[in-house]
Amino acid sequence: MGKILVTGGAGYIGAHTVKRLVSQGREVVVLDNLSTGHRDFARFCDFVQGDVRDPVLLDSVFSSEPIDAVIHFAAASQVGESVRNPLYYYNNNVSGAICLVSAMARHMVDTLIFSSSCAVYGPPFDCLLTEVHPTAPLSPYAATKAMIERILADMARVTPFQYVALRYFNAAGADPDAEVGERHRPETHLIPLVLQTALGQRDHLDIFGDDYPTEDGTAIRDYVHVLDLADAHIAALAYLRGGGASRAINLGNGQGHSVRQVIDAARKITGRDIPVRTAPRREGDSTRLVGDATLARELLGWRPRYADIGEIIATAWAWHSKEAARSAPVL
Ligand code: UDP
Repeated sequence: MGKILVTGGAGYIGAHTVKRLVSQGREVVVLDNLSTGHRDFARFCDFVQGDVRDPVLLDSVFSSEPIDAVIHFAAASQVGESVRNPLYYYNNNVSGAICLVSAMARHMVDTLIFSSSCAVYGPPFDCLLTEVHPTAPLSPYAATKAMIERILADMARVTPFQYVALRYFNAAGADPDAEVGERHRPETHLIPLVLQTALGQRDHLDIFGDDYPTEDGTAIRDYVHVLDLADAHIAALAYLRGGGASRAINLGNGQGHSVRQVIDAARKITGRDIPVRTAPRREGDSTRLVGDATLARELLGWRPRYADIGEIIATAWAWHSKEAARSAPVL
């Protein structure tokens, strides 16, 4: 077996996947420009600092390492930022993927696992979303993921190239050893913000909208543990190796939790006060996003090990407590 190139392996989901691959004896090279990644997250393997849009660098990595598969995480991932700066997103994400796939073709590397998102789906959202649900990206970020999926599908139709696009629902939690975890600057995600509030690093948490048509009025998401996501990437590689067809596959827990349910679970886990305030809805947020992961179960044999929101939050709590002891967060 050759090495696996992991682009964006110094980011949140990438770092957990790398740690998992290395623990299973796979050799990994991380390529990350560290625009949002962290050098210490990529300490378990070979590391190259650079951008996937740099063809000279890609040629040198593919020529000097026996790479036989690529897992592509490197991308900008904030919906709000993508609305404000769409060109950056199309350039970084779409051009980045084109450069990477072109380099793979030059070096005859055919296998790619792509980090996609449930953000590619369009309304209606009041059902379990399956892979055949209509796609209708609502933000430039989501549009980049849908465009890249289309590019990969077109490539797979006419060349030996094969891929799996994994459409994640809400990645959450951290490595149970707390060696890597979630560190976004600035942080915009619910669970880290809730836990930073529990740690006293923030004086309150804003609940973005309590007038949604849900039981408690707050929006519902499908939180899936980052290590379960990591395992799915490894299972997707095996699926392609076993002759599986190129396609998109959902990764979710199939269960929805509201913002208030997440906060209540965090209060239980941390035993801390978590002051909240109600704020207006965040632009672009939908009421409910819950995924159907039947296909992942059938094709990849994937079953999330962390199905309980309390367990997911507990791993994140251990990580954020450790981070807090180490340094103050950038708010
Ligand atoms: N959310 C919130 N307060 C925050 C951050 C997030 O109420 O400070 C809500 C957000 O509106 C959404 C859910 O929590 O309904 C999950 O948001 P997150 O940004 O974690 O993930 P997204 O679903 O937007 O990818």
